Amino acid sequence: MVKRTLLAVLAHPDDESFGPGGTLARYAAEGVDVHIVIATDGVAGSVVESFQGELEQLTAIRTKELEAAVAILGGTLHMLCYRDSGYINDPANEHPDAFIQADEQEVTGRIVQLIRELQPQVIMTHDETGGYFHPDHIMCWKVTTAAFHAAGDGSQFSDIGQEPYQPEKLYYTAFSNRWVRFAIFMIRLRGKDPTQWGRNQDIDLTRVGVDSDKITTAIDYRKYWDVKLLAGAQHTSQGGGTSFNRLLPKWLQKQIFGRETFMRAYPPALNGQREKDLF
Ligand SMILES: [Zn+2]
Repeated sequence: MVKRTLLAVLAHPDDESFGPGGTLARYAAEGVDVHIVIATDGVAGSVVESFQGELEQLTAIRTKELEAAVAILGGTLHMLCYRDSGYINDPANEHPDAFIQADEQEVTGRIVQLIRELQPQVIMTHDETGGYFHPDHIMCWKVTTAAFHAAGDGSQFSDIGQEPYQPEKLYYTAFSNRWVRFAIFMIRLRGKDPTQWGRNQDIDLTRVGVDSDKITTAIDYRKYWDVKLLAGAQHTSQGGGTSFNRLLPKWLQKQIFGRETFMRAYPPALNGQREKDLF
């Protein structure tokens, strides 16, 4: 049997766990060679109170947290080590080392090199909205999509890596706005404003999520529910993501949220097609 390899290109230390962590854990457990590329150092992300005194070591702290999380998920980590650009209008956007200031060709080339070396059948990255319009997520979408199409073309990046190699499938992470609409309803019910959400009140939840008819692929990760939680819990400098829904019993949470969803970008999905496997 051909060795199955999955390459995920994600923006920040934590996206691998809070994003498609269940899917990554499941494929790793099923014997797939899972490679996780993280583009930035996460230095502009939010920091919980107890870590405020250690901001200078933040890059080192986030790297350690990421290494622990990826080990739990069962993948191999590749860090591109760009500086976190921060969210829209964050002054960190302007930093010369910020990921979004990097030369797109150069970043694309680095991903092409990884694709040619690792020869994954499946590539995964953020969607064109970055999920919630984070500039680093959108940059990942841009360069990974370009790399997916360039890696198999010997006339492009001919000085990079080995032989050209064309991966078979490209997926974008996506979550249905069905759940976002429900969350917005609950937030309004509590008298809060869903257009100014998150720790910095800079996320407009009403623009988050994709229409459920655009979702092509749902991966059941209920067996790896605890693995995903444990990986997320490694990111203690960001709070570890444990606040999620204590009101619902675990079995019900699994039932409702135990699938991660994706849009297949290549090959284009047939109308209404729904699949349960990335390979
Ligand atoms: Zn992120």
